[in-house]
Amino acid sequence: MIDRYSIAFYLVLSCAVGVLDASAGDADPRYRACVALCGKTGCIGERCFPHCKFSSDGVPIGPWYMQEPLYLKWKQWDCQSDCCYNCMLDREKERESDGDGPVKYHGKWPFTRVYGIQEPASVAFSALNLAMHFHGWISFLVLLNYKLPLKQNKKAYHEYTCLWHIYGLLSMNSWFWSAVFHSRDVDLTEKLDYSSAVALLGYSLILAILRSFNVKHEAARVMVAAPLLAFITTHILYINFYQLDYGWNMKVCVVMVVAQLLIWAIWAGWIHHPSRWKLWVVVIGGGLAMLLEIYDFPPYLGFFDAHAIWHATTIPLTNLWWSFIRDDAEFQTSYLLKKAK
Ligand SMILES: [Zn+2]
Repeated sequence: MIDRYSIAFYLVLSCAVGVLDASAGDADPRYRACVALCGKTGCIGERCFPHCKFSSDGVPIGPWYMQEPLYLKWKQWDCQSDCCYNCMLDREKERESDGDGPVKYHGKWPFTRVYGIQEPASVAFSALNLAMHFHGWISFLVLLNYKLPLKQNKKAYHEYTCLWHIYGLLSMNSWFWSAVFHSRDVDLTEKLDYSSAVALLGYSLILAILRSFNVKHEAARVMVAAPLLAFITTHILYINFYQLDYGWNMKVCVVMVVAQLLIWAIWAGWIHHPSRWKLWVVVIGGGLAMLLEIYDFPPYLGFFDAHAIWHATTIPLTNLWWSFIRDDAEFQTSYLLKKAK
């Protein structure tokens, strides 16, 4: 039988896991005392949370189906979440009246929730990124199938069509899981977000190599892609089933991003691509936006932190990026048509 004290202990423990990450907020004794008391009583002062309802002998109140183990698990999580969140808000109010700035709790800034969404601004910007990729991908599809001339077998001249379609799908998948993760940060959503991002970054590096070195033959493409695919797969398995090492994952992602941006930028300059300026804007803009991740600042008005603003900056860059992809399709098509004549 789970008694109130073991639940309280569990709450303190689970809220205090972040102490290892050394976030100033959750290491604060007053915050931890608030969470411990909330775990015992289900209340902070006058406010009591419906997710924390315990009867006097510690048995959960409600019909039998509400006492199922799985439901109980979610219920505890929700109670934990309510306690941590409200203690954090109270503590932040105290800090503000003392003239102190905000601090992080469990590795995250104190965000204001909207309808239970943890980071509303990041969710909204992730959704807009997804919409931008959808728009870019659809207009790429329309351009190739209805605007540019087709071969006699009704196929496009552009030899990277299929690769860009996969890129579009992986991008939308990645932003979808980013929106889910920022809505509710649990182990599963975090792993899905990280895995999708790694898959997208790895794939776009392969695509950058194939396009810039003009690798056309199927066998050559497989030979280039195979070692990278093997590495990406191993890395995804590692972060999901062995250890989600944030530092190592960050290094892998940064190396993959910097490598592909450099490949694109050098290639576009080298071959005098007519739309190379778009690429350079994306590279420089993307590089500057990365600084936001380094100069991490707390959320303005409780919503707009550095990470959210970073997601906002990628919206116009995505638009420009798909515009470059379309220009490249036109550029290659006209080159192949000239060659065919
Ligand atoms: Zn994010």
